[in-house]
Amino acid sequence: MTDRFATVRERMVQEQLVRRGITDLGILKTMAEVPRHLFVDDAMQAKAYGDYPLPIAGDQTISQPYIVAVMTQALQLQGTEKVLEIGTGSGYQAAVLSRLCDQVYTVERINTLLAGARKVFDQLHYYNILARLDDGTLGWSEHAPYDVIIVTAAGPEIPEPLIEQLADPGRMVIPVGDRNVQQLQYLTKKDGEITVNRLESVRFVSLIGEHGWNND
Ligand code: SAH
Repeated sequence: MTDRFATVRERMVQEQLVRRGITDLGILKTMAEVPRHLFVDDAMQAKAYGDYPLPIAGDQTISQPYIVAVMTQALQLQGTEKVLEIGTGSGYQAAVLSRLCDQVYTVERINTLLAGARKVFDQLHYYNILARLDDGTLGWSEHAPYDVIIVTAAGPEIPEPLIEQLADPGRMVIPVGDRNVQQLQYLTKKDGEITVNRLESVRFVSLIGEHGWNND
């Protein structure tokens, strides 16, 4: 995509992703293309390619580019997967995923965020993303099972419905921990067996819902 941020976006890829060890060429190419500035408020567009998360509506955040890349790389997408994302937020992570898999289903609990994300998906003609307003800790049973599940808000534990709605074989990344600091966990399901591995420490906004934190 050619726009006034194309050069800045390429620099983001080199300095924040390649330099820190992101090697998946599909992810690097995708993040050099997806116009991240469209997923933040107009007033913040100039900051969209900085090395940090940014505030979006409803006291939420769009994740730092590096974290988006780390989570996406952990999922090892081949292009054929059906992916469920919990926590649409700005829509940026879903947009990146949508270029690297077959179909993205994404769930958000805050209506203004959902509406904003849908608008950008349409504007970019990213038609393989379906977004829904709901408590994502319950998953989205209608389209289950999912080859891949990614949760972009942090809860105290891995919500049981998500484990149930994961295909076999299937893989999931999710931050788990307390309200302040969490660990990225990588879960696989194979022949009915669940294995969980810990990746790096992260800081995400809270996953709020029936199988997450209370809303307070
Ligand atoms: N993937 C997003 C990150 C947004 S921050 C992006 O790329 O911008 C996490 C989001 O998770 C917030 O928008 C928050 O409202 C949402 N969230 C928190 N708990 C949720 C739940 N139970 N179901 C769906 N969304 C939830």
